[in-house]
Amino acid sequence: MTPRVRFAPSPTGYFHVGSARTSLFNWLYARQSGGTFILRIEDTDAERGREEWLAGIITAMAWLGLSADEGPFRQSSFELRHRELAEKLYESGFLYACDCKRDQIDTRTKDRKTPGYDGYCRDRGVMRSETTGLRFRTPDLGETVVRDVIRGDVVFPHDAMEDFMAVKSSGAPLFPLANMIDDREMEITHVIRGEDLLPTAPKQILMWQALNEIDVTLDLPAYAHLPMLVNEQRKKLSKRKDPVAVESYRDKGYLPQAFVNYLSLLGWAPKGKDEILSLEQLVEQFRLEDVNHAPAFFDIAKMTHINGEYLRAMTVDAFMESAKPWVHPDEGDWVPSDHEIPWTRERFQEDRWRVIAPFVQERITMLSEVTAMIDFLFLETPRFDEAAVTKVLVNDADAVLILERAIEVFSVTDFVPEVLHAALADLSEAMGMKLRKTQAPIRVALTGTSVGPPLFESMVILGLDEVLKRLNAAVVIAQG
Ligand code: GLU
Repeated sequence: MTPRVRFAPSPTGYFHVGSARTSLFNWLYARQSGGTFILRIEDTDAERGREEWLAGIITAMAWLGLSADEGPFRQSSFELRHRELAEKLYESGFLYACDCKRDQIDTRTKDRKTPGYDGYCRDRGVMRSETTGLRFRTPDLGETVVRDVIRGDVVFPHDAMEDFMAVKSSGAPLFPLANMIDDREMEITHVIRGEDLLPTAPKQILMWQALNEIDVTLDLPAYAHLPMLVNEQRKKLSKRKDPVAVESYRDKGYLPQAFVNYLSLLGWAPKGKDEILSLEQLVEQFRLEDVNHAPAFFDIAKMTHINGEYLRAMTVDAFMESAKPWVHPDEGDWVPSDHEIPWTRERFQEDRWRVIAPFVQERITMLSEVTAMIDFLFLETPRFDEAAVTKVLVNDADAVLILERAIEVFSVTDFVPEVLHAALADLSEAMGMKLRKTQAPIRVALTGTSVGPPLFESMVILGLDEVLKRLNAAVVIAQG
């Protein structure tokens, strides 16, 4: 049977990097096996779910290039079917009515060793009403074994499992019921999802057995629970403390292809040495059974490094295209949040950007760094970095002299990078200084900071007039 896999996110928050990894592994598995990748939005939690989170999932998946073969489906649209099968399960005795309140359960169970519900209503023959939910009658004896592609057999003894809720008192079907019904209806062959869902697997398997009794008999899907993602302290990534929203990485200027490449390494590794792999190579090389069960370190530094490699491997045109949202946002289809572009549309000059772009491309690891690196080209006065100004203009007693001599020399030098370079090298020698020392105040005068694109190329782009103007202004600053 050709594999059918699904990614089943709940739209209850920002699209998490862990969800992106789950989605990718499902997608890869489908692509390499000639199978079908289904997107099912589990939107039945009306209290926590929001339309904007759902839109975020769709946008993020499109950004990552993970398109679904079927869907997106909304779980809520299958509710009638969930309710119909819940009734049948109830009539057949797999579910029973329960009218216990949370505080009553807590009082009764506080001294029990096994956590959860104590089975109080199991045989009380509670009449159904608006205050009764339906619980699953978990067998007393035996155990349920989850056969996991990644973890092997994971055994759940029944005496440690509670009679879990399957239908709320409102009549709304709950996760273990709805999720398994949908997997059955969609003929899912492999459930690939995060490790946090492993404890729900035995409940779903029990549900599947019960559904086989009252409905058509189907094969159980194979399970693969992907390792959790941890931070530097080896703690589970926390929504509050760690940057986990996929959106935030797009905003910072990670390339989708680099991001996907990095995600693939979270719990899996290629056989060869090379970790830089295109989607096509990933489809070819990825093996679900080779996924590791140990927690995977979400290493932002490594991901950033990989992003830099991707940026440098691009053609200049592709780089300029990708950098658009950080250079001229009004032309892109989205604007990175929390990112300001300090120049006006009128002052922006495409030809200057084109000349500087290859140098910028060499020097950054995230596209959001582009803006600060080129703003001196489009601002009337550079945006001065105070620390740099203090260090190399105000506090360096030689700064004024260097700037004044540089003004003299540059005024009569051909404006080409090599010639400017040679002229400043000669001047430095004449002044008994290192080239690095003389470059420092000039760079701050022209660009406002100590780091940026190569100085002499930048000078050529600015042109003689602009260079002299900025050097003179810096003399005034240096004189205090
Ligand atoms: N909707 C569930 C969640 O987002 C996932 C269900 C599944 O993959 O089985 O946690």
